[in-house]
Amino acid sequence: MVAPLAAVPQPGVVAGIVADVYELCATERSGELADYIPELAAVQPDSFALCLATADGKIYAIGDATTTFTIQSISKPFTYALALADRGPAAVAARIDVEPSGEPFNEISLDPITERPRNPMINAGAITAASLIDGRDPADRLERTLRCYSRFAGRDLTMNEAVYASEASTGYRNRAIGYMLRSFGIIDSDPDEAVDRYFRQCSVDVTCRDLAVMAATLANNGMNPVSRERALSPALTEQVLSVMTTCGMYNAAGDWVSTVGLPAKSGVGGGILAVLPGQIGIAVYSPRLDAHGNSVRGVAACRELSKRLELHFLHVTRAAQAAIRSEYTVAEAPSRLRRNTDEMAVLAEHGHRARVYELHGDLQFAGAERAVRIIEEQAGELAALVIDLHRVGEVSAIAVRMLDELAAELTVTGCQVAIVDPDAKLGHTVSSLDPSDPRGRVFVDRDTSTEWCENIVLAEYRPSDVPVCTSLTVEDHPAFASLDPSECSRLAKEFEVCTIARGEVVAERGSARSGLYLILEGRVRIGFEAADGRNHRLVTLSAGMSFGEIPMLIGEPFANEVRAETGVRVAVLSPARFDRLTEQAPHLKLALLQRLAAGAYAQMDAAVRGADY
Ligand code: GLN
Repeated sequence: MVAPLAAVPQPGVVAGIVADVYELCATERSGELADYIPELAAVQPDSFALCLATADGKIYAIGDATTTFTIQSISKPFTYALALADRGPAAVAARIDVEPSGEPFNEISLDPITERPRNPMINAGAITAASLIDGRDPADRLERTLRCYSRFAGRDLTMNEAVYASEASTGYRNRAIGYMLRSFGIIDSDPDEAVDRYFRQCSVDVTCRDLAVMAATLANNGMNPVSRERALSPALTEQVLSVMTTCGMYNAAGDWVSTVGLPAKSGVGGGILAVLPGQIGIAVYSPRLDAHGNSVRGVAACRELSKRLELHFLHVTRAAQAAIRSEYTVAEAPSRLRRNTDEMAVLAEHGHRARVYELHGDLQFAGAERAVRIIEEQAGELAALVIDLHRVGEVSAIAVRMLDELAAELTVTGCQVAIVDPDAKLGHTVSSLDPSDPRGRVFVDRDTSTEWCENIVLAEYRPSDVPVCTSLTVEDHPAFASLDPSECSRLAKEFEVCTIARGEVVAERGSARSGLYLILEGRVRIGFEAADGRNHRLVTLSAGMSFGEIPMLIGEPFANEVRAETGVRVAVLSPARFDRLTEQAPHLKLALLQRLAAGAYAQMDAAVRGADY
């Protein structure tokens, strides 16, 4: 008997890679526990955890991911962030530089020229940052610091009193740094309070999972992807990540950037936090440290993950994304307004003078620059163009400016511009831009913008000697074409002419056959209400066209709503009369059906041509 396939859960590619890296690094046993803070030597030396949190909040964890340990220096970027938010970047920059020091984290030094701490990731800069936190009193300043960290972690973090007491009773070197800072006027408050709060912030207990969420919050532009709470503004997040890139790994920063290539921060508690902006946060916990005070397995695991997941922030898979997804003329992809034969002929010949450019992806500088350049090069030949942004994700401020300027420039040189932008990514809505605004006309869908372009081409190229036919009699309708006069008037008698007001529904979706309609004047729109609440047009029909054939001939209900787009005049053949014609005038019925079939095929042909785009 064949055994059924066992449902072994597959770990998935990412979880599999995380597990492999974990296993590989677990064999590494070198390094020493930090013991200059006595309590730090009390941890399990082989404890090991690895955690990945994506910028949208999915967490991959392996090992002792819920074991707590003290955050130590990984607190520094977060206190720096709070100081930036409290005092503003300029006031912080006046006291802390952002230059890599190439020195150990606890060096008692200032930059000889600026006489400021070299950066906020070494102790001198971190103690200065701690001194810049706002608050009523020491307790309030500590409370605000803890709350800031907690927002990044998405849960309430607390201090480890034993580790704090241990560092407070031995931290003379940091006190020396605090007094040096006070004597140089970098700290102008009580240096003991700043150093004490620094000891306390370093003793905050975290898990590897917490650090991963903190890293993912930095990756997600300052918004915690799990709690959805904003922890830091995007601009300050960028500043914090910059300093982490150049200074986060102390005197190993250069090697770290070249082998791992991620903004990061390590702590002597054994944690490392690394960030790939926009993508993921990584955290590792393993307390044995190398000579720089960085976790040995932490560095190894980050290197390995960076390599296997291709995370290096300078790793480029291809140059500037092609922002133009496709482009075509309105002759190749007409609007859903069904044109009459004369108009179709004009559009077939001159439709290449109006082009649609569909953009996609996120519009950053390089993609926008390339798209704008290509459109500009081709626009000389065009009477009108559409820039369709409906598939675009984020649009950077510089891309908005470039597109606005492109539109204005083209309008001045005589090419009219339509922007399809249903979500107002350029900041303009259909009604916010005046029709004469050179930045173009805004549309919510490509179909209506294409119709607008077609009208521009038609206005320019429609032969002036061909009258624009907007009103027909029943006998003029193509459904009556080449019938002899007596047949013509016999058939016309079966039809009843009526008018429909603009906006009125002629047939509801799902309604039964109500007649065969020949349009004599005005426009009729066939469409449906989509999930987005908008009425999507399938086709707009005008004088000389017909509708209602399918319900009439096949007996199926109307598949879509039929609505008068303008005031409309139609000739209607009622179901009863249509049925009666079979006995009373079969030859007339046959003639009518032949003509309707020809119209239906013409319509199908137009629909098929539009379908590729
Ligand atoms: N509290 C520690 C100290 O200042 C933090 C150092 C670190 O994690 N690199 O010595």
